[in-house]
Amino acid sequence: VLIPGIPYIQGRNAYSDRDSRKYGIAIHCTANTASARAEASYATRRTDGVSGHFYVDDVEVIQSLDTRARAGHAGSVEGNDHAIAVEITGLVSWSRAKWLKSVAWDKLGRVLAHIIQKDPHFAGKGFQVRRASVDEMRRNPKVQALYGHDDMRRAWGGTTHTDPGPNFPWDRLFQAINDALEGDMPTAEEIAAAVWSHDPTNRNGKGAVRNRDWRADAKTNPCVQPRFAVEDIWDHTHRIEQELQAARLRDEAILAAVQGLDTAAILARIDEHAARAVAERAELMALVESVSSGERDAVEVVRLIGELLSSATRD
Ligand SMILES: [Zn+2]
Repeated sequence: VLIPGIPYIQGRNAYSDRDSRKYGIAIHCTANTASARAEASYATRRTDGVSGHFYVDDVEVIQSLDTRARAGHAGSVEGNDHAIAVEITGLVSWSRAKWLKSVAWDKLGRVLAHIIQKDPHFAGKGFQVRRASVDEMRRNPKVQALYGHDDMRRAWGGTTHTDPGPNFPWDRLFQAINDALEGDMPTAEEIAAAVWSHDPTNRNGKGAVRNRDWRADAKTNPCVQPRFAVEDIWDHTHRIEQELQAARLRDEAILAAVQGLDTAAILARIDEHAARAVAERAELMALVESVSSGERDAVEVVRLIGELLSSATRD
């Protein structure tokens, strides 16, 4: 698989892979500060058998081998067979601060996200954006995660290399990959800003979301198509706006209808019903009491109550 949108400078030492399949992503550093382009150029002619799939510096990511090819990077069969090799220019001794400012993290994140989402060896196969432990690499050389050359050395042997070094910012790498995997979706704040600043009379308006250069981003980054997400939000916002407007008209119609009625007459009629209910209840109580006081006999009272209730129901 070749990654669209980045330079491809085919390297020399491409080997055939046993199953043409990769499972993990191995992170190296080149132990020098040459540019990615210089490394990729050197890879077209180097005679030591060493190779990598990608070269990365603070400016760009260059692909050197198809991801199906086997690179000579790990010193072990497991590493060479199972991992995509990412060679980042830099030194094992670099500090975290130095690493943070010396890698094109966003571009690297997009390239690796593209592999994870689009490469048939990775897409939907359960790859996890995390660093595998040496123990699990020993147990399962086909672990679907990221690891360093040093991790490969400790798990599978083959070299004395300890790159990318103890201060390599794995968290920054994972963040870059995850950001790209999430398709650079707008945040809740950005959506809210777009909704509030949205002018329904201007469908091509300059909402907060559109102000971020999504289209340009989508052009340079085939992994994500944020334009579609923005269009969806835009259409959704427009629909909500229309629904709100319809609801407002409905409310106004109801208010107008209610205001047209004689509210005093309605209240008087409600009072009338309530007063009659109270009177009926008092009458019933009086009848029941007249039995216990001996004033009337029970049979007569039952008949009177029946009459009273049936006249009440008839009303
Ligand atoms: Zn290495």
